[in-house]
Parts: sequence; structure tokens; C-alpha cells
Amino acid sequence: PEPKSLHFIEEIVEADRASGKHGGRVLTRFPPEPNGYLHIGHAKSICLNFGLAKAYGGATNLRFDDTNPVKEDVEYVDSIREDVQWLGFQWKGEHYASDYFPFLYDYAEYLIQQGRAYVCDLTEAEIREYRGNFHTPGRPSPYRDRSPDENLDLFRRMKAGEFPDGSKVLRAKIDMASGNMNLRDPLMYRIRRAHHHRTGDDWCIYPMYDYAHGVSDAIETITHSICTLEFEDHRPLYEWFLEQDVEGKFFQRPLPRQIEFARLNLTYTVMSKRRLLQLVQDGVVRGWDDPRMPTICGLRRRGYTPEAVRAFAERVGVAKRDMVADVGLLEFCIREDLEKRAPRRMAVLRPLKVVITNMTEAEAFEVEVANHPDDPAMGTRKLPFTRELFIDQDDFREEAPRKWFRLAPGAEVRLRGACLVTCKEVVKDAAGAVMELRCEWDPASRGGNAPDGRKVKGTLHWVSAAHAVKAEVRLYEALFTQEDPMDVAEGQDWKTLLNPSSLEVLAEARLEPGLAEARPGERFQFERTGYFAVDADSQPGRPVFNRTVGLKDSWSK
Ligand code: ATP
Ligand code: MG
Ligand code: MG
Repeated sequence: PEPKSLHFIEEIVEADRASGKHGGRVLTRFPPEPNGYLHIGHAKSICLNFGLAKAYGGATNLRFDDTNPVKEDVEYVDSIREDVQWLGFQWKGEHYASDYFPFLYDYAEYLIQQGRAYVCDLTEAEIREYRGNFHTPGRPSPYRDRSPDENLDLFRRMKAGEFPDGSKVLRAKIDMASGNMNLRDPLMYRIRRAHHHRTGDDWCIYPMYDYAHGVSDAIETITHSICTLEFEDHRPLYEWFLEQDVEGKFFQRPLPRQIEFARLNLTYTVMSKRRLLQLVQDGVVRGWDDPRMPTICGLRRRGYTPEAVRAFAERVGVAKRDMVADVGLLEFCIREDLEKRAPRRMAVLRPLKVVITNMTEAEAFEVEVANHPDDPAMGTRKLPFTRELFIDQDDFREEAPRKWFRLAPGAEVRLRGACLVTCKEVVKDAAGAVMELRCEWDPASRGGNAPDGRKVKGTLHWVSAAHAVKAEVRLYEALFTQEDPMDVAEGQDWKTLLNPSSLEVLAEARLEPGLAEARPGERFQFERTGYFAVDADSQPGRPVFNRTVGLKDSWSK
């Protein structure tokens, strides 16, 4: 095979290894904020960070970026650990930015002593106003020239809880005229009396993301700190904070390097945790793991395999410009994986009764069918073929169009693995709805072909009425009707673009008998219908299946 060309981050890592920059070491981190469940965009970041480290004999830390006590929760921490493991990755260190609160505090005192940080009493609105905008330079805060001693005293009293929430902040003293707004004396700490899910009420001051993030990377001696593009403008700040360790008392050298890549977006869905949380809270979906959600747990429940998610992450690549991946590509990846590994089964989603009038009960027989057409190692199974069956309503048309090879009045079809049958009569109810088909079989066609060699094109799946398991089958479509649900007209709510038929529940499906035993998480191809996974809602003898993806590939690019 062609040697794979390197993406720009691999090139950076290879150059660093060639120059011996980190002694050949590669240590990356995946730094989720535990304020929601992980989604497919995070999966991209996980695959990138863990994949890169693995490729170069390095390791990856899992770091919970838990510096904002208000939105974070242990429920999310647990789900994140589970999802990363499910994707197939094992982290080296498990860290919490909150464990670094004492270190971050000490380093902040050091910055104050160096004259690099000051306590500011301006209100939030005043800070914004003083900061100016892209066209006007900012004005210095009247508190900017407080002495290090005064700042140190005030900062210690902030920590001790002497001041009310929001009354003071600690700011980095950088450059109020910088063209980069992030450098106009950004906030480092604010006062917030909030209970933290790990540190409890130990702290009433919390560090800001930009300050905490780079310092956390440096504490862990991360070599390559990969983040998404919106942090490009924050990179000078990331570097500034670390470089203020002028005496080298705090961090090991060389310092970590921030590298930005394009965030992954997906068509027909939203991806931000805030928006996903809204869907959950408003009851639009049943939870974070609703199979329509682009979350990792949603994809898992839907029947996705970790292999398919990893293959998707690989295929979308690593870009420097933001991109929107086609959800069809994601579906292509799961279809490709399940095509190989999912055992075949017969399942009738919308049952239509078929009675074989010229067959007696005693003539019922067993049919042996392959579990996979191309993989004999997957074995065979036996299915009862009886006088009363179900086929799918979609496989019958009273008025058959041209080239209709399925069942119609007078037409002959093959019932997979069993025999040929011809439709002789259509039984309807008073309203004219088709209730039952009365068919005749050709006993000489047992096994599926007639001895006279006559051609029968259509082959249908079926189940024996008396043996079939009744099941609920859930069919999913995209959550939104528009490719980019964020592309809404002014004043229009993005939620008006929700697809009202994203879930269809078929409560009367009939499955071949063995599927009664199927366990949550198991995946199958229902022949001619799609790939399905057993849902966690299944009860013994009453399975619930999710359609993972249909059989037809709609992705062509
Ligand atoms: P969200 O917008 O969903 O809230 P976030 O960036 O705030 O995402 P974090 O928990 O901070 O969420 O993300 C953890 C890591 O995953 C970060 O390094 C972030 O860059 C990366 N990440 C998040 N979303 C995406 C995405 N859509 N594509 C690629 N990487 C992502
Ligand atoms: Mg983030
Ligand atoms: Mg976020």
C-alpha cells in the first residue's frame, strides 16, 4: 500500500523528534470539561491525541478540565471515562485541573510578585468597556499600578473569602493596546462561592480557563497540546503564562506547544454541548444516549462500533480549516464495519400475514440458512417454515409497477432459503386494507429453486407466524431537517428546524425466533432492511431494536 502521507501535526511531532526537542518524548492529553457527554467531535480529538501518542511510542493523559464549578458534575466524569475506554483507548495519567488549584494559586502569587498580575476592582462591565475593541486600544484599569505587596495582600484576602463574589478579579498585566484582545490584561481568577464536585467548598476563587489550561499542560509535561482552531488567538497568552516562569522554578523545559486543528462538525446535527444539553432538557430526545444524538453514548446505543467511529475519525483527517463532515460518511463507516461482522437475520418490520393454502401443518419443515453469505465461519442456523408466515408489507403491491419483482397478485417469489410461492388471493377488511395474502407453494421448489429451472427474481425475507418473536423496532432519521441547523434566519429558533419524524417506532415487528435471546449491544443485519442493534430497553422475550443504519449507501463523494 501507498505510504500514508503525514498530516501537519504528525509533521510537527516528527520534526520535534528529529531535533530531539523533548528527548523524543510524546505526551499528549485529552482535556474535556466535565459539563456534558462526549460527542463525535470529541471522538475526533480523542483519536487524534491517543493515535498520535501511540504512533510515536508515547502516551496520553486524560485530564478533566474542571475549573468551572457551576456546570460540572461527576455524572459527566464517569461517562467520559467510559466513552474514552469504549473507543478503545487507555490513558496514562488521570488528572483533574482542580488538583492543580494549589499549584495554580502559588504560580499566581509568583506572577504578582514579579509584577505580572494585579488585583482589579472594576466590574465586569467596566472591564469590558476599558478593554476597547478591535479598532480602539484599551485603557488601563485604575488598579493596574497597584504594588506587588498590595496585590499579594488583596489576592490572599480574595482567597480567604474576605470579598464578595464578583467584587475583584486577578488579571494578568500584559498589554492593553495589543491587537490581540486576549492579551489586554485577561482575567486569571474570579471570586465565586460555588461548590466544586471535587474540591467542595475549599476555594472561593477559581482560575480562568486560559490560565489553568496551559499551566496544567506544563505541570504534566505535555509535549504537544492539541486544541481546536478557536484557540489560535489564545496561543500567545498560553505561551505568555508559561514564559513568566522566568527563573524556571515551576515548569520543566521545553514547555508544551499548543497546536490548533479544525473542529469537526457533522451535517444535520448540532454539536455543542450546550445545545445538546438543551435537547435533553427540553425532552426533544430521551437523554444524552438517545440514538439520534451525535454523542458517543448515543452512537453506541444506536449500534455503532468503536472501530467504525475510529475509521470515521481517520477518514475526516486533520485540517487547518473548519469543516463539516457529511453524516453519510459516518454511516458509510458503520455500514462497512457491520457488513463484515454482523450476523444476518430475518426480521419483518411491518408484518403482512401470508397463508400457504396448499400446505398442511404436517408439511412444515426446517430451513438451514447461512449467518453470513461470505463468511462460512459464522455458521448456519435453522428456521421453522410453516403454513402461516409474515412478510413485510413493503414487499407486496396490489398494483405492481413495472419491474416489480416482489409479491403481487398472481406473482411468484422466493421465500429466502425455503421455497417458491405464488399469490392467489388478497384478503381485505371492510375499509379495503390488505389483511392477508393467500398463496400456494410449489413443493418441488423446497430449498428455493424449481426443478424446471424457471426464473424467479424476487427473494423475500419471512418469519413463521407461530414462531416469530414480537419486537419493538425503532427507526431513526436525522434530528434536523437542514444540513446546518445553526444556519437560521434572524429571529428564528434553531429548534424549529427539528425533524418531527426523526423517530418512528414499529411496535409490531416479528423476528426470527432466535432473536428472543439477543442481548443489549448485539448487532445484526436484518436481511434486506438494514443493520440493527439490541437496545437497553429490551426485556426477556420482548426485544427492542434500534436501526443503526440502512443498507443503502447514500454517501458518494
Ligand atoms: P463543546 O463545544 O462541545 O462544548 P468544548 O471544546 O467546549 O466542546 P471540551 O470538553 O473542552 O469541549 O473539549 C475537550 C477537547 O475536545 C478539547 O481539546 C476540544 O478541543 C476537543 N473538541 C471539542 N469539540 C470538538 C470538535 N467538534 N472537533 C474536534 N475536537 C473537539
Ligand atoms: Mg473546552
Ligand atoms: Mg464548551
